Amino acid sequence: MRYENKVAVVTGGTSGIGLSTAQMLASEGARVAICGRDEAALAAARKDFGFLSIRADVSKLADLEHFYQEVSALGKIDFLFANAGIYKAAPLADTTEQMFDELIAINIKGLFFTVQKALPYLNEGAAIVLNSSVLNQKAWPGNSIYAATKAAVRSLARGLAADLTDRNIRVNAVSPGPTFTPIFGRLGLPEQELKGIAEQILSGIPMKRFGTSEEIAKAVLFLGCADSSFVTGTELVVDGGLGQF
Ligand code: NAP
Repeated sequence: MRYENKVAVVTGGTSGIGLSTAQMLASEGARVAICGRDEAALAAARKDFGFLSIRADVSKLADLEHFYQEVSALGKIDFLFANAGIYKAAPLADTTEQMFDELIAINIKGLFFTVQKALPYLNEGAAIVLNSSVLNQKAWPGNSIYAATKAAVRSLARGLAADLTDRNIRVNAVSPGPTFTPIFGRLGLPEQELKGIAEQILSGIPMKRFGTSEEIAKAVLFLGCADSSFVTGTELVVDGGLGQF
């Protein structure tokens, strides 16, 4: 019960890694608030898990302000997981301005202001985890913009940690490898093509399997609590060895 009497916030808490982390935080005693854009998924999370579930698009600053005002009903925030993010990939020549802007708006701008707008609501001694990716250090064809957003997130873990040490707030990144979540299904590709991509990814993972969202959540909970009390500005890579050999 490492999160007993703590208030924990997860952006993008309706699905995948965010939902597993929110569930794990609740199971360790936290009062949990989540946000996302899909009203039906938010209502399901409220009904099934009792989370405070608020509609907010992290790329919209007014949404973030409204979200934190609502969260303040639970008390000051002890743990923030800036997790909301999207994955899009395309061959270099086919990458559109819209895809570029969307990735930057959600994965970088949204994540930065998720932290900035939380500042008045954070307890002294709070912890923040940013969701990066093993792709912050690897090149896959067609993934250059997504990977660049995640390299920015890795950098922000250092920068924001430096900004917040005077409030005794730690900031770290978690960098998942390929993890089994609905994110790949959102690409809108036919089942057969997705299967082919999954097999190609799998062949490059030393542990020969995808991670689970629970395995990522365990790393996030470690970075968010006193077990990691002397850890700040760094990243914990949870990738089955993909980025290491
Ligand atoms: P997922 O199942 O698609 O979940 C993404 C979550 O983010 C959803 O709750 C989604 O809710 C929310 N979200 C997306 N855009 C948002 C926005 N503008 N405002 C608010 N919420 C938003 O994907 P996942 O795999 O769990 O991914 C979570 C994070 O892990 C992402 O940052 C991703 O880049 C990172 N990651 C994933 C993998 C992987 O292999 N799965 C690997 C490395 C890193 P709505 O759609 O309702 O808004």
